[in-house]
Amino acid sequence: MPDSFELGPIRPPSEAYSLLIRVTKNCPWNRCKFCHIYKGQKFELRPVEEVKQDILAAKAIQDGLKAMAWKSGYGGSVEVVVATVLSNPPNEAYFNIALWLSHGGTSAFLQDANTLIMPTPDLVEVIKFLKETLPSITQVTSYARSKTAAKKKLAELKELREAGLSRLHIGLESGYDPLLKYMDKGVTAAEHIKGGKNVVASGISLCEYVLLGLGGKKMWREHAVETARVLNQIDPEFIRVRTLTVKQGMPLYQEVQGGSFVRAGDEEIVEEEKLLIENLDCHAYFVSDHITNLLQEIEGKLPDDKDKMLAVISRFQSLSPEERHNFRVGRRVGIYNELDDMDNPRQHELAERAIEKLSDDGKQVSDETIYFLMERFI
Ligand code: SF4
Repeated sequence: MPDSFELGPIRPPSEAYSLLIRVTKNCPWNRCKFCHIYKGQKFELRPVEEVKQDILAAKAIQDGLKAMAWKSGYGGSVEVVVATVLSNPPNEAYFNIALWLSHGGTSAFLQDANTLIMPTPDLVEVIKFLKETLPSITQVTSYARSKTAAKKKLAELKELREAGLSRLHIGLESGYDPLLKYMDKGVTAAEHIKGGKNVVASGISLCEYVLLGLGGKKMWREHAVETARVLNQIDPEFIRVRTLTVKQGMPLYQEVQGGSFVRAGDEEIVEEEKLLIENLDCHAYFVSDHITNLLQEIEGKLPDDKDKMLAVISRFQSLSPEERHNFRVGRRVGIYNELDDMDNPRQHELAERAIEKLSDDGKQVSDETIYFLMERFI
C-alpha cells in the first residue's frame, strides 16, 4: 500500500475535515507583506499525472483502513480504526485520511494558494479523476486569487463547476486600493470585484476572506468602508474574517519594528469590524471562525442578522474598561471563547490571574503581549 502523498502547508479553517490534495505548490504571487506562508518557496504547477498518483495513494490508504476495520470485526464501520490512527498516525497523509473519514469522507480541498491558475483542462481532469476515484466526495473546494478569477473566462469557470468544483476561497483582505497597494496584494478593488462576480456568475460558491486590522491605525476607516463596498458588489455566499497577525518572515514585520506601520489594538479592530458590518448591504453568511478573532460569536446571515451581529459588538463595547481588558486577555490566553464565558466566575478569576501574571503593574497587559499571545495560535 502506498504510505503517503504530498500535502501543502495550509487550508481554510472550514476545510479542517477535508481530504487535502496538493494540485499546485506554493503561491505564484508570494509578495503580500502580511503573509509568510510560502516565502522563499518557488511556485510550481504539479503535473496532472503526479496529482493522480497522489489521489490513488489517498484511495489506497482509505481502502487499507477500511480493510483493517473488516479484519478487526468492525464490519463497514471504520470509526475505531480511524480513532487509533488519529491517536498515533504513521504520517501526515494517514492523519489527513483518518480525519477526513471520521467526518464522512465527503469533501476535498485542493491545495495550494491559487489552484485556479492551473490550465482549465488540467484542473477539470484532476477534479473528475478525484470524484471518480473517491466517489464519496461530493464537495471540492480550493483557494484562488481574484486576479486569476478575473482573467478566467466565465465558460471555463462553468466548466470547472460542472466538473465538480463547488467552492472557491478568495483572500480579498481589503477593498481599499491604497491599502492593497501598500500591502503589495497585487490586485485592485476593481479586479476583486470582477474576479468575485465571475465566480458568483459561474455558480461556484464563493467565500471571501477579510483581514481585520490590516489598515493599522492609519487606514482602518477606509479599509472597513471600502471593503464593504467591494463585498456588496460581489455579493458572495460567505464572508469570513480573520485578524492580522505579524510574524517574523513577513515583510510587514520589519515595517512594524521600524515604526512605519502601526498596528491597531483589539478595541480599534472591534470598531473597524462594526463599521464594516454597518456598511455591508449584501446577502452573505458572515463568519468569524478564526482563532485570531476577538469576538468569534459574530456570525449570521446578512441582511437579517445584522442587528444581532452588531449587538455582540455593542455588548463588548459597553463593558467597563477593566472588563474589556479581562475579556481580551482571557480570550488571548484561551480561557474564553465568547463573551458569555465571562459570566463563569471560575473563568473570570483565571483571566484576572492571567492579567496579574502577564502585566508589570498587575493590572494592564501591554498590547505587545496580547499580540504575542494571539500569534502563538498560528
Ligand atoms: S496571494 Fe495569498 S498566499 Fe500568496 S502571498 Fe498573498 S496572501 Fe500569501
